[in-house]
Amino acid sequence: MNEKSTVCVVGSINMDLTVSTSVIPNQGETVLGESFATYPGGKGANQAVAAARLGSHVKMVGAVGHDVFGISLKEHLQKEGIDTSSTELIPEQSTGTATIILSNNDNRIIVAPGANRSVTPSYVEKHRAAIEESDIILLQMEIPIETISYVVTIAKELNISVILNPAPYQPLPAAILNQVDYMTPNALEAELFKNDLIDDDLLEKWITTKGEQGSSLYVNGKEVHIPGYPVPVKDTTGAGDTFNGALATQLAQGISIKKAVSFANAAAALSVTEKGAQGGMPTLGEVENFLK
Ligand code: ADP
Repeated sequence: MNEKSTVCVVGSINMDLTVSTSVIPNQGETVLGESFATYPGGKGANQAVAAARLGSHVKMVGAVGHDVFGISLKEHLQKEGIDTSSTELIPEQSTGTATIILSNNDNRIIVAPGANRSVTPSYVEKHRAAIEESDIILLQMEIPIETISYVVTIAKELNISVILNPAPYQPLPAAILNQVDYMTPNALEAELFKNDLIDDDLLEKWITTKGEQGSSLYVNGKEVHIPGYPVPVKDTTGAGDTFNGALATQLAQGISIKKAVSFANAAAALSVTEKGAQGGMPTLGEVENFLK
């Protein structure tokens, strides 16, 4: 690789709080659970970590609260080699959390966005340099929609490509759908977006991830399947995040879309062989070995 390419992630940073229990409490009830653990998460941070492990220089534009979780998450990103000069600790705000109740087949999750709500258009404007200095921008939908619109508009002015991972799903204004360069829904999100697609031309920017099957994209109006890699599965959490981080590193280096998607399939396949969203995210060397 020549000089490192730069990926700018504008997105969420959360602490995932997981508690496992065999019994889910009813209203007014307290139960004794089994175990508790915290994991760094948030789609933005996860994708930033994936891209950094795969060899990109990564700038994280995001926000955490000025609390223990926020301090620890910022340090964690720094340990992954991510540039956090655009990740602020916001006073009087709590760090974004996902509280996850893990029970046999009945997982329940409450996300409290907290400081992620502070990633507003004016926050982005304050950190505009991070965007200007990047080769590609990677977005998800855990920050305000108006911020996504704003980033996409700046990126167009600067002629920098944008990947939008439209997760979790919410309807998007036509201006965003028209202006982004790549959309990366999973199969479920792609289904939800079908009704929003007015123009068939837009399909050319859609890359749909399809779990173990791999992914697909459109070339000259025709769907092309890019096969996945069979692996022993331990935990599929974060597969999509690894895919997006990997795709961004490849496209930032100017690699062709089909090759980039195939590489992203391989990185994401490796990620499901270990526990946790970030736990299984591979390094560049690991993906290269896997593909030998
Ligand atoms: P999400 O995690 O966002 O729901 P997917 O389930 O489509 O997204 O997974 C994203 C990518 O991860 C897939 O395109 C594929 O490359 C890889 N992947 C996911 N699950 C598996 C699996 N069981 N085996 C191999 N690769 C997988």
